[in-house]
Amino acid sequence: MTHRGSCHCGQIAFEFEGDLKNAVSCNCSICSRKGALLWAADAAQFRLLDPQAAMGAYAFNKRELQHRFCTTCGIHTHAEGDGWIAVNLRCLEEFDLASVEVVNFDGRSA
Ligand SMILES: [Zn+2]
Repeated sequence: MTHRGSCHCGQIAFEFEGDLKNAVSCNCSICSRKGALLWAADAAQFRLLDPQAAMGAYAFNKRELQHRFCTTCGIHTHAEGDGWIAVNLRCLEEFDLASVEVVNFDGRSA
């Protein structure tokens, strides 16, 4: 199934293939501040609708992830890992988050 999402102003829009079975709630220092619910998508299945969109990037700690956000509206849409994308499911357009189980991930200890 193809899911579509975007930041608030629409500058960053994306789609990805995936059978969403759950949403990951991570307690690490950045996820807890964002309040994001995440899904790990294969990078090959994730597509930015406008690759030229102005995106900010933030990295910290081991710098294994590039946390992407819209430079206009400030919404964090996804993070880029090595071969995978952590999608913020709260940015999806037509997806009922209440329909999937929320799984806690102890990113603070990872
Ligand atoms: Zn935006």
